Amino acid sequence: MRIFFLDQSGKPGGAELCLIDIAKPYGDRALVGLFADGSFKHLLQQNHIPVEVFTTQAIQVHKESSLVQGFKSLGQLVPLISKVVKKAREYDLIYANTQKALVVGALASFFSHRPLVYHLHDILSKEHFSQTNLRIAINLANRFASLVIANSQASKTAFVQAGGRSDIIKVVYNGFNPKIYQTDESDINQLQQQLGLKGKFVVGHFSRLAPWKGQHILIDALAKCPPEVIAILVGDALFGEQDYVQKLHQQVSQLGLENRVKFLGFRSDIPQLMAVCNLVAHTSTSPEPFGRVIVEAMLCEKPVVAAKAGGVMELVEHGFNGFLVTPGKPQELAQVISTCLQETEITATIAKNARITASERFNVAVINQQIAQLLFNIMSA
Ligand code: UDP
Repeated sequence: MRIFFLDQSGKPGGAELCLIDIAKPYGDRALVGLFADGSFKHLLQQNHIPVEVFTTQAIQVHKESSLVQGFKSLGQLVPLISKVVKKAREYDLIYANTQKALVVGALASFFSHRPLVYHLHDILSKEHFSQTNLRIAINLANRFASLVIANSQASKTAFVQAGGRSDIIKVVYNGFNPKIYQTDESDINQLQQQLGLKGKFVVGHFSRLAPWKGQHILIDALAKCPPEVIAILVGDALFGEQDYVQKLHQQVSQLGLENRVKFLGFRSDIPQLMAVCNLVAHTSTSPEPFGRVIVEAMLCEKPVVAAKAGGVMELVEHGFNGFLVTPGKPQELAQVISTCLQETEITATIAKNARITASERFNVAVINQQIAQLLFNIMSA
């Protein structure tokens, strides 16, 4: 089967990293069409996945756009769509991985007579999107998609609640290669030395810097923890959230935590960095659709504390394979951090349970098999 993947992003967020794992087995039978140039293209190339950038002009529709803005962007979309339609005719199926990819993919599906699959990586609710964007996504998916793959039950529920068809949506979790998450002791030592982490209790936060990812909650919590607790913030402002980055730095200096918070920027050595952590914190203040970082930490056999909302509740069972806290409550988070600092034996058992359950539930080979079967069903319908 030849698959034409579409993704709007030039930078690798969770949806893009998931796409790499899905597209990889198809080799030259896949093409990833992007609507922006950037580091994601290079990552695809490194993984030997064919990639083509279809436009380098930013599409002027944002998560909170109005209908008028949406129409204005249509003129800009026409040349892009005609290129995509032409390319789609060389493939059996169009696989839209983001919302703007859905818009382009739906029209391309209509004109090229190729079936459309939409991989939904978002919780389609008013908390995350404008009413217009919600309506566009739901209507296009309902009308044009043969299949919607939701990355969690939470994403599926939101889709259906927003008016999406329940007969076309299936939940498939993100898949991971468990082997990648085993790190050598020598690499751990080296990183600890480089980053000055020896003798510290390290809480890791792995996410792009954006207000709803809640790095500020962790910083507030840190101020309530004993001084040996420090935090590493791994990730960058991928989508222009520079104001938030500045606010985080201000918060750190106001709380006098300059020596206890390290901003490491975007990194590609996530498993190694997780390996130097004593605890991984997830602090999203809005419901997380899935939360790749949580599963990654579990595979690294690290205890995870995560914000109790959205897809997270399908990943973590409090007290068995991780800890759940109320989103936006630094005091609660600080309490869990302190418990992990003191109760090392219980925490180690929880981390072990986490590794076992995550390896069983999120194995990339099994997940890819599920997706292949769903795509096969569409082609043979
Ligand atoms: N990530 C990364 N480098 C960083 C920060 C994050 O590669 O510096 C990865 C992280 O390991 C995870 C993904 O980005 O695989 C983020 O996915 P998640 O589902 O947690 O959040 P999203 O970005 O999709 O909102």
